[in-house]
Amino acid sequence: MTQPLKQHLIDPEICIRCHTCEDACPIGAITHNDDNVVVDADKCEHCLHCIAPCPTGSIDNWRVVTTAYSVQEQLEWLELPEQQDILATTSDSADTQTENADVIALLAQAQQGAGEMACAPASATRPVQNLFTQSEPLRARVQGNFRLTEQGADSDVRHIILDLSNASFPYLEGQSVGITPPGTNQNGRPHRLRLYTVSSPRTGERPDTNNLSLTVKRENHGLCSNYICDLKRDDMVNLTGPFGSSFLIPNDAQTRLIMVCTGTGSAPFRAFTMQRQREMAAINGSMKLFFGARTPQSLPYFGPLNKVPGAFLDKHFAFSRVENRPKTYVQDRLRADSSSLAKWLIDRKTYIYICGLKAMESGVEAAFFDIMKGADQDWQAVKTEMLKDGRYHVETY
Ligand SMILES: Cc1cc2nc3c(=O)[nH]c(=O)nc-3n(C[C@H](O)[C@H](O)[C@H](O)COP(=O)(O)OP(=O)(O)OC[C@H]3O[C@@H](n4cnc5c(N)ncnc54)[C@H](O)[C@@H]3O)c2cc1C
Repeated sequence: MTQPLKQHLIDPEICIRCHTCEDACPIGAITHNDDNVVVDADKCEHCLHCIAPCPTGSIDNWRVVTTAYSVQEQLEWLELPEQQDILATTSDSADTQTENADVIALLAQAQQGAGEMACAPASATRPVQNLFTQSEPLRARVQGNFRLTEQGADSDVRHIILDLSNASFPYLEGQSVGITPPGTNQNGRPHRLRLYTVSSPRTGERPDTNNLSLTVKRENHGLCSNYICDLKRDDMVNLTGPFGSSFLIPNDAQTRLIMVCTGTGSAPFRAFTMQRQREMAAINGSMKLFFGARTPQSLPYFGPLNKVPGAFLDKHFAFSRVENRPKTYVQDRLRADSSSLAKWLIDRKTYIYICGLKAMESGVEAAFFDIMKGADQDWQAVKTEMLKDGRYHVETY
């Protein structure tokens, strides 16, 4: 038998073509065309640098093969091929048995995946993932579509509620779902899926309702966001997922959460807050929210958020376009709260979550750096510890 090898593959049904893996690969082993992102088996050295940054987990797929799938083949795939039965069956000789033992060991490793995904909080509920795929999606019914930003505000952000009927779709706060706009692209292939973070807690919009909500911003010329923002009550939507294995809330009631967001990055934090209100209503002083928007009118959930008691959720809003007021960004609000944050940051019960625009990440990091410096602490060392413990999470897009 030809020497079997473990081949690294990307699941085209789950991949959102964000190319994060391509950027993370230090040796250029990942490439793409208009349809797929693929790994070149001749180049890939299984260094696994690409695994943790992938937002969907589509990167963590492996097959044991005797001849590697070529780049060209993979670029044309609509779905991953099944694992082939490659055990040698021709003889019972000792050589064949040794070969088979090697293949079985490789198959077991391939099934496990790389196990290098970003680390979840130790006390988080174990997430279920990839239950529904593009070829077998869950049909969800639109229960509601409400505009969250005021008419005339500079952005149209929607609160979409999807009824899951009797289906089992066990999502957790912080996970995302995939939505594929109907129709095909210019190559006649289905459109690629887009991810949207769930904004309801695991038990649904109201306790024990089998539904979920999303917070979706209409993008100019954006295919999927316009499709979703135009959905009407009772329309049916193809849902895939759930996705995401690390941006999760700890169940430990002693933990503290620092949540930093802009725009639709508020989606997971609505879910986090509601989940804690349902499960830990008596706990005060364990959550801080830093939320940036241009104006109060364009800040999703401004009204409902203001109703959450300050003792339960310490809110810090930053507005960058309010007339006659200085421009304020989330990092300014972080710095303004530095004496309290400095104490939180060195506490091993503290978790940081950052979600929203990619552009906010560096400013937020710089603020944490300054806050720690002011307290004679080394931010890099603190962050390294947090990452190791699954206490530092970023989801920007
Ligand atoms: C982990 C994760 C979670 C996410 N969560 C959310 C969420 O909770 N809420 C949310 O709203 N989004 C979320 N997103 C982003 C979302 O997945 C989509 O990327 C977003 O909705 C845009 O998709 P689209 O199909 O509308 O735009 P696309 O059609 O993919 O277009 C992409 C961009 O190109 C521009 N564009 C497209 N065509 C043209 C054209 N002809 N001329 C000029 N510009 C053009 C669009 O303005 C858009 O900004 C998330 C992304 C990730 C990775």
